[in-house]
Amino acid sequence: MTQKGAGQTQKALENLSESIRFRTISCEDPSEEDKAQFEAFRGFLKKAYPLVHVHLKTEIVGDQSLLYEWKGSNENALPLLLAAHMDVVPVELETLKQWTHPPFEGVISDGYIWGRGTMDCKGLLISILEAVEALLVDGFKPTRTVLLAFGQDEEVGGLRGAEKIAELLKSRGVTPELVIDEGGAIADLGIPGFKKLIAGVGIAEKGYLTIELVARARGGHASVPPRHTAIGLLSRAITRLEKHPFPSKVGEIPALTLERLMPELPLYLRLALSSRLITSLIMRAASRYLPPLGAMLRTTTAVTMVSGGTKDNVLPQEARATVNLRLLPGETCEDALKRVKKVVRDKRVEVHISGMAENPTDISSVKTSGFETLERTIKECFPEVVIVPYLVVGMTDSRHYSRLSDSVFRFSPVRGSRKELELAHGTNERLSVENFAEFIEFFKRLIKNSSASIRS
Ligand SMILES: [Zn+2]
Repeated sequence: MTQKGAGQTQKALENLSESIRFRTISCEDPSEEDKAQFEAFRGFLKKAYPLVHVHLKTEIVGDQSLLYEWKGSNENALPLLLAAHMDVVPVELETLKQWTHPPFEGVISDGYIWGRGTMDCKGLLISILEAVEALLVDGFKPTRTVLLAFGQDEEVGGLRGAEKIAELLKSRGVTPELVIDEGGAIADLGIPGFKKLIAGVGIAEKGYLTIELVARARGGHASVPPRHTAIGLLSRAITRLEKHPFPSKVGEIPALTLERLMPELPLYLRLALSSRLITSLIMRAASRYLPPLGAMLRTTTAVTMVSGGTKDNVLPQEARATVNLRLLPGETCEDALKRVKKVVRDKRVEVHISGMAENPTDISSVKTSGFETLERTIKECFPEVVIVPYLVVGMTDSRHYSRLSDSVFRFSPVRGSRKELELAHGTNERLSVENFAEFIEFFKRLIKNSSASIRS
């Protein structure tokens, strides 16, 4: 590495470290947020990336979110949109002692940058800005406009941040050629006999629905109980729901995942999955015992909260349960509600939507020029990985942008085993120094490739 290169890397590390020190924790109730932390974070960005703030148009959207525009020389080319979020999840007090280094100090040690947000999502946000700043230093001028969209509340739904940015872009008629946000990663799947790393590119996100079950029964004294109390009725409804999961299916996305993965798999797996029918049967059977696979193949239901009863000798008049569902693409909240009602099939148990209800996103096409650019960039940066489209079972800000473009992909070059990737949101969240340098290189190349991909 040249001295200049080493100096840049050191500066980038210091910037990421400093970014972790701002406690940009988002809350469901905005009045509980520490707005000053977000303001200070924006101030830090301005200081750390002087060229970005001279050459790009900067707008504050919502009250804390940021939209940057780096104008390309070709006005007809559709823009590239790079998304990330500046908010982080809190650290539970009881876990503080288990952190090797304090979560909000950004300590650089043992080849890692430690702290809340290093993986999710400041590592991504900072590396995008590092990439743009470095390209500006080199005198690079994009032909394709580059938009940077940094939301303030991804961890609580993104309605005040990404949603507002998407709305603004929509009103301006912006239709990005390619949107890249967090979600996918470079992972070791841990399949026996399969050594290659997978670059998972999320091409759609499941929907989100919260339903409440309310069982009602006559109250009275516990000494003369009916056959079922309200709690008994509710329990029966819950048992029915768990006994009759939504049907699993190897739909469009798992089929595409397999198609890409198949030629790379070890022989024993290729033989086992040699016909579509057998594959479908095996996967559906395995999905019952492997929750991560199940989540890819079906709409899931999880009973997450339950309440009822006030005293040991009083019959409860009411008992309630909350069920969280994650919907497969192609299904709607209405379909899911209908099915839950059908499975519960008890007039004494009311079933209604009680919280967020978001349909799944559309599926982004892997046949677009946007995907081509992403694929090419991943291959250039990580020649050894297998690129595999997949379904994201959680939620990211990208779903707000999915109405702007048919090429919305969830991928960042974060590397690790499944266990290491789970450190995001967890104790000892950290990003390796080496991986962070790969992030910056990846975004430099992505911006260059997206400009080079314009066909005149
Ligand atoms: Zn995130």
